[in-house]
Amino acid sequence: MSSRPSSTSPSAQPTTVLVINSGSSSLKFSLLDAATEAVLIQGLAEALGTGEAILHLSPTGGEKASHPIPGADHSQAMAAVLDHLDGTPVAAVGHRVVHGGEAFSESVLIGTESLAVIRDCVPLAPLHNPANLAGIEAARERFPALPHVAVFDTAFHQTMPRRAFLYAIPHELYERHQVRRYGFHGTSHRFVAAEAARLLGKEPADLQLLTAHLGNGCSACAVKGGRSVDTSMGFTPLEGLVMGTRSGDLDPNLHEFLARALGRPLEEITRIFNRESGLLGLSGLSNDMRTLAAAAADGHERAQLAIEVFCYRLAKGLLALAAGLDRIDALVFTGGIGEHSAPVREKTLDHLRILRPALDPALNQDHGRPSGGRITRPESGLLVLVVPTNEELVIAREAARFLSL
Ligand code: ADP
Repeated sequence: MSSRPSSTSPSAQPTTVLVINSGSSSLKFSLLDAATEAVLIQGLAEALGTGEAILHLSPTGGEKASHPIPGADHSQAMAAVLDHLDGTPVAAVGHRVVHGGEAFSESVLIGTESLAVIRDCVPLAPLHNPANLAGIEAARERFPALPHVAVFDTAFHQTMPRRAFLYAIPHELYERHQVRRYGFHGTSHRFVAAEAARLLGKEPADLQLLTAHLGNGCSACAVKGGRSVDTSMGFTPLEGLVMGTRSGDLDPNLHEFLARALGRPLEEITRIFNRESGLLGLSGLSNDMRTLAAAAADGHERAQLAIEVFCYRLAKGLLALAAGLDRIDALVFTGGIGEHSAPVREKTLDHLRILRPALDPALNQDHGRPSGGRITRPESGLLVLVVPTNEELVIAREAARFLSL
């Protein structure tokens, strides 16, 4: 494959999809051919709005490069990205949007109406949705004639029954303020559930799975017949499992107690739970599992403790989600930690011994690559798989559905 899409593009694909994941100060993109599912180029513009703004590019089969774009905002970063696509015709643009509230149970073509609804969801995701909207605006400015498709992190979980998504608080708070559990990482849970079915040679409709997406953010999901029936994240991505810098589940009284004890406003306590907690808070060292694993191996006690709490809470979260299933056909690990950390998987399975997993240490060490994802022995009471996620591919596939080919 050429290092960069050609400017004359004789081989340009009518199925080329630009996938945008826009954060508050960053813009991540991938250009994929939705027909072959090949990635042509991907990149990240970061530190947007500052003098240090920079665009990193990784063309498939080509050399990585970085270009300073000082002071660039989302729109200027988008223009810089397009410069480096060398005129490759793009057929559709897929956008990751974090929160679709209760309005979207699947992807949607972006237009005046759907944009208004995404804006209505801003109070539910005040950090994420405005950033996603900035990416949408920048891309629509550059590609006004193309279909733009929003793919929501929350959509997959809209199949959760009320008993799973309601909090036990006054019902009016749900009716008036949309306070309920939404769940996130839906594109990833959906993708790995479908991949697991493919690997097992089964129909998603015939499978009941637990999926654990363990990246910087972590969540688990109970997937019954290809539909989410419960998940660990809630009204916000703070609920549930221990994460890189997020605490996961806490006693709700802690907010008030700590605000008083520290003499700080509630917003500051929220910030601590989101940014200074989780693996970082427990270890006092890092939010990065690679760093913690190396430190733990060197005898760093708090790194060991952080990993221990992480794995125990994950096991506990998975067992809680099993309440949504009749049986567990497989447990699926994915995300940076789930795909790459053999010790985390092993420790988590230790705490799941009630399900009688029989880990195959060699397969676990090889992340299930030699065995189609399987890391347990054939006689195991619980089948455990490692399945790499690919959220960009889901978004590209969703956007391609809106192309009239
Ligand atoms: P994001 O949620 O930002 O997409 P990723 O899915 O890339 O993040 O996951 C990031 C996490 O995966 C980090 O904690 C990182 O340390 C961990 N990780 C990546 N590679 C490895 C590895 N080889 N061993 C252990 N942890 C890893």
